[in-house]
Amino acid sequence: MIKVFNTMSRTKEIFKPLKKGEVSIYCCGVTPYNAPHIGNARPFVTWDVIRRFFAKSGYKVRYVQNFTDVDDKIIKAANEQGVTWKDVAEKNIAAYFKSMDALNVRRADFYPKVSETMDDIIKMIQTLVDKGFAYVLDNGDVFYSVEEDKNYGKLSGRKLSDMLAGARVEVDSRKKNPMDFALWKAAKPGEPSWESPWGAGRPGWHIECSVMSLKFLGEKFDFHGGGSDLIFPHHENEIAQSQAALGDENSFAQYWVHNGFITDGNEKLSKSNKEMVKRNKGFFTVEEVLAKYPGEVIRLLLLQTHYRNPLEFNETRVIEAQEFFGKLAKAYWQLDDLARKIHAGEFVKDTGEKNFAITVSPAGGLVEEGERLLSNFYAAMDDDFNTALAITHMFELAGEIGGYYNEFVGGKILPVTIDGDIILRVRDIYMEMAEILGIFEQPVPVEKAEEKSAAPELVNALMKIILDLRQNARAEKNWKLADKIRDDLKAAGIIVEDTPQGATWKKA
Ligand SMILES: [Zn+2]
Repeated sequence: MIKVFNTMSRTKEIFKPLKKGEVSIYCCGVTPYNAPHIGNARPFVTWDVIRRFFAKSGYKVRYVQNFTDVDDKIIKAANEQGVTWKDVAEKNIAAYFKSMDALNVRRADFYPKVSETMDDIIKMIQTLVDKGFAYVLDNGDVFYSVEEDKNYGKLSGRKLSDMLAGARVEVDSRKKNPMDFALWKAAKPGEPSWESPWGAGRPGWHIECSVMSLKFLGEKFDFHGGGSDLIFPHHENEIAQSQAALGDENSFAQYWVHNGFITDGNEKLSKSNKEMVKRNKGFFTVEEVLAKYPGEVIRLLLLQTHYRNPLEFNETRVIEAQEFFGKLAKAYWQLDDLARKIHAGEFVKDTGEKNFAITVSPAGGLVEEGERLLSNFYAAMDDDFNTALAITHMFELAGEIGGYYNEFVGGKILPVTIDGDIILRVRDIYMEMAEILGIFEQPVPVEKAEEKSAAPELVNALMKIILDLRQNARAEKNWKLADKIRDDLKAAGIIVEDTPQGATWKKA
């Protein structure tokens, strides 16, 4: 049973998919006017994990994320740089993909762009005009009329009267109500424009997400996501437009999921905060951060806080996350080492005492611990996608793996007692957690080279056991056995020398 905190009801609800076994998701994408900063990355990493989790839980996932490629900021950047708006958008869409690829964010199923969805946008605005929810001004601007919409404000929980009292709304006497918002903006000189029934112009911001989500996901879909700064007015307006156009107040997204801000100090990370940008010079955009630290470390850091909570981002925290990642990576290599030995036939499988190897471990059965922690991992994800808690279960398993491995290296677990299937099952469990979190998909760093191979420690431990047995034979004057051990070792390329301090050995 998956529970989701729905911004609409402000409670955790049991998730009921509209179609059994399927999940449809729309997340507001970026306005590609400059390179994304780390705060921009949070919703996409969040939804990437949610998608992976649903997919691993057996759902067929359909995920749509837009690019707002027609926008004031893009037009401004184009004018400043002396290039076209398309150049600016394309350059920054490429930068977005580069950053997201480094963070292991899987591609969406669809990436609609405003410039490619114009006909559908115009159609929806026309529907709103026809139904009386929108009005056209003489100059060709089209506004949504909030007063015609009795449900306006239901997502953010605000009443129209409170909004008017509390908001500093710019005075535009042409609007019927100050909260009315633009669906279509008449063309201004030097700006890109498209033909419409109201003259040349371009869409307002909110309408695109209504059109794109409905176009790719249908009149009802499961999730709509984005940063919590989008609740009002963006998502409020999306709901208003969509449900008015469809004439169904239960249509559109069923669950509204919003991630918290990434902060610097107590302030939300923002490009428009000049002081903050200055303070974080060289460590602000995703690209800058990735130049210094691996993408998987940054991804892990983003997931170590529950998506709804604010997340403080600074270099100290990145370094801590890197150390934490190193501990998870260590267990990855320990399992890798054991798996390689299994494939090389170093362990004797199926001794008739299948669980002997794991029962001698103080972990009390590595595979049982693995199964228990995997089930805890899923329970954490089921509870409003609590990656922070899920990660602690993975970390606990890493500790169990390390304990087992150290016993093996220390000679307390003999290779002949190891059941390869059990080790491989533990590795599958560990990698299942990693796959949902989206780590270990890039080359995994090795902390210390010697930890990659247990061979020298293992040989030392085994040789000690063998020489002790030979010493016992000598003490019992069983010269035949003592000599046989020495000769067999010699045949295996190991020279035993008896010294006053006891027997020593070396490779021939
Ligand atoms: Zn949007």
